[in-house]
Amino acid sequence: MENNKKHDILRQFPSVQSILQNNIVVRFTESFPIGFIKEKIENLIKSEKNKVIGFLNSRKDDAVLKDINFTVDFFVKSLAEDLSSFSYSLKKVVNGTGVVIHTNLGRSILPESAIKNVSIISSAYSNLEFNLTEGKRGKRYSHAEYLLEKILKCEKALAVNNNAAAVFMALSSFCGGDRKEVIVSRGELVEIGGSFRIPDIMKASGAILIEVGTTNKTKPQDYKAAINENTALLLKVHQSNFRMSGFVSGLSSEDIVSIGKEHNIPVMEDLGSGSFVGLEKFGLPYEPTAQEVVKAGVDIVTFSGDKLLGGPQAGIVAGKAAYVDMIAANPLSRAFRIDKMTLAALEAVLFEYLDIERAVKNIPTLFLIAQTEKEIRKKSVKLLNKIKIADNIDKNLLDFKIIKDLSIVGGGALPDYMLNTFALRIAHKEISASGIGKFFRSCNTPIIGKIKNDEYILDMRTILEDDFKHILNALVLISR
Ligand SMILES: *Cc1c(COP(=O)(O)O)cnc(C)c1O
Repeated sequence: MENNKKHDILRQFPSVQSILQNNIVVRFTESFPIGFIKEKIENLIKSEKNKVIGFLNSRKDDAVLKDINFTVDFFVKSLAEDLSSFSYSLKKVVNGTGVVIHTNLGRSILPESAIKNVSIISSAYSNLEFNLTEGKRGKRYSHAEYLLEKILKCEKALAVNNNAAAVFMALSSFCGGDRKEVIVSRGELVEIGGSFRIPDIMKASGAILIEVGTTNKTKPQDYKAAINENTALLLKVHQSNFRMSGFVSGLSSEDIVSIGKEHNIPVMEDLGSGSFVGLEKFGLPYEPTAQEVVKAGVDIVTFSGDKLLGGPQAGIVAGKAAYVDMIAANPLSRAFRIDKMTLAALEAVLFEYLDIERAVKNIPTLFLIAQTEKEIRKKSVKLLNKIKIADNIDKNLLDFKIIKDLSIVGGGALPDYMLNTFALRIAHKEISASGIGKFFRSCNTPIIGKIKNDEYILDMRTILEDDFKHILNALVLISR
């Protein structure tokens, strides 16, 4: 086809400007930036034009062009469809993995009280660093401090950006400038996902790592023999995401504290997950709580805000006032300081812990761990019943079954402990398990499941009733 004709046909498309002037599109600009809408329109026109060029180049009958829609209305409708599925890059997903504290999926879900407080504090000015009694500059840290000290029964506490920052700041404060030594058991030189490795963080902080004991056994004598005038700290690190079994022994917090006292050297413990609630309450194996570690006499204990605590990303530093003050005075505390939205969430979460029963009920992380098999099964049946009565979900194509399964807590807590759970197995006549996974991840509200023995399953432990609608929606779409 000669170029002139092509040109004539392409000229029939409406201009971007004419679409932007459409009344409906003008209303869209109230909800979306104009540049974003413009780019969408340009892309829509481009893709229609490419279709036409394809037709023309393949010398198909001009009649084909009748199917091409050149009207403004057509583009407005396509644009509306495009915008209706808009979402930010960071979006809500349905967690069907059963891992309660899943670092890739945002770790802890906040309790209602924290969400409300974040909204209030972030939508107005606040007394973040303002002392209302004295009418002058106040302390950002005071807002979480009073509750942490009450709950942990420690002299002083500080909340920073995350636990990695807490550990880094503490090591740098104890040893930083003068390259002092920190003694750690070889069984605790762990890597906690990402790039957090105890030996690396130690090096970066300026501390010199002194490894003692062996991988499986460390004895009091190993610590004692390594102590010299350059020793600044005895450090105990929670093994978090692995467990050793067999011929294994290490020192308890109390054991290390007594060595520290004997030699007048401070003791720090990086608890990792750090729970305020005894896990045995949920039928899980015993792990010392943060309160117990403080009580054992550890000088500084650090742990995460968004693991077992169930709050926002944060790092808690708690212990003896002199050391917490020293860490707070470190110039790094400015770089690692906690944000006001985090602080708003953290204060509300900590407040829940003033009543443990209430905390277990209101804090999703605790609630999801505490669910009984019976409760999870009941939730599964409820979802399955909703699927059964949905007539736009094709039961000839799809097959559903509630099966027994195992889930884990995650977040480095109890890595070898499995919790009994129930899962919904979804099979599709024409789509493989990984195909279902891919389809579900592509939904407006993505659903993340797991594949086990070549079958696609959704672990119901981490699925909330509020997620049901998204699952039902995905099942309708995959029925087509
Ligand atoms: C998770 C963990 C960290 C890192 O905590 P973040 O809050 O993720 O920075 C440090 N130490 C231990 C033992 C951990 O389990």
